[in-house]
Amino acid sequence: MTSIPEAKAPADEVVLEAIGLTKHFPVRRQLRDLFSNRHDAVHAVDDVNLTLRRGQVVALVGESGSGKSTVARLLAQLYPRTGGDIRLHGVSTKVKSGSAFRQYCARVQMIFQDPFASLNPVHTIRYHLERSLQIHGNAGDDLETALHELLERVSLTPPERYLDKFPHELSGGQRQRVAIARALGAQPEALLADEPVSMLDVSIRLGVLNLLRDLKERLNLAILYITHDIASARYFADQTMVMYAGRMVEGGDSETVTQSPAHPYTRLLIESAPDPDRLAGASEAAGEERGNGEPPSLIHPPTGCRFHPRCPVAMPRCSTDLPVPLEIGDVPGHWAACWLYDKAEVAS
Ligand code: SF4
Repeated sequence: MTSIPEAKAPADEVVLEAIGLTKHFPVRRQLRDLFSNRHDAVHAVDDVNLTLRRGQVVALVGESGSGKSTVARLLAQLYPRTGGDIRLHGVSTKVKSGSAFRQYCARVQMIFQDPFASLNPVHTIRYHLERSLQIHGNAGDDLETALHELLERVSLTPPERYLDKFPHELSGGQRQRVAIARALGAQPEALLADEPVSMLDVSIRLGVLNLLRDLKERLNLAILYITHDIASARYFADQTMVMYAGRMVEGGDSETVTQSPAHPYTRLLIESAPDPDRLAGASEAAGEERGNGEPPSLIHPPTGCRFHPRCPVAMPRCSTDLPVPLEIGDVPGHWAACWLYDKAEVAS
């Protein structure tokens, strides 16, 4: 195991990187397979690259089963990786348990989708926050003041109204704020937020996203925002990356990716998003662009481009050649893994 680097990152500094990150889950072997050499695996994540910087939000967008939550769990070191690397401040880092894992968690905290499941129902809010402060050595000389500060930071005020409540006595939004406060108790540099608002009422989602954005700015946090809702990525994230069937297919600044999507799958995601303005102006052409079918099996993923069985503009090479990331147009940093943007293809 590589030791955890001590230095804190300055503004905009790279905190956490995934480089060629890969995760295959072995599939339990069937009786018939015992007599063969078959070792099937779910190809959940393949060759994913992403960079989290201080003071920036990166959205990872995709439908269920695209591998985006697995990426978050790999970055949190909750799963061992099959291949690739995770670098914390440029240092390759692999931790499993014990003090090394705790040191890593102090720098990289995860927020889960279901705040009710992530809080222990038999313990008060005080217990959850005290534990976080004490485990990470951040209680200071005055525990009560530290608890109040944590709750104030997530806008649960006055703090004394919440400290001795149990999770079931709070609303979904308040519980997610407590989960965020607990993560802040570690004084992390990076937050991995896995669908943090998808289980909340629509009316309170914006408040929690605004809170995360405020924390990003005030505490200079690096945030990974996992979501299936590409519209919220535009609102909340600086960069947006799109995942399909375990692979990254498009990336760039959020405005460009959501307003000028290049990859046919990103266009499909945007066409499927419930946006009243867009639906009012939806054209037949947009309908023609819409891909059909279901996501593919990740045990035997399609060869070439994994989107080719659903892609309305697939070409012969798409079923055989794996697309590489290609730059799009004049917007720096905008890329798509799609043969439509291969200059040789365009010229022919
Ligand atoms: Fe469609 Fe081919 Fe592009 Fe894949 S590489 S998205 S199949 S055009």
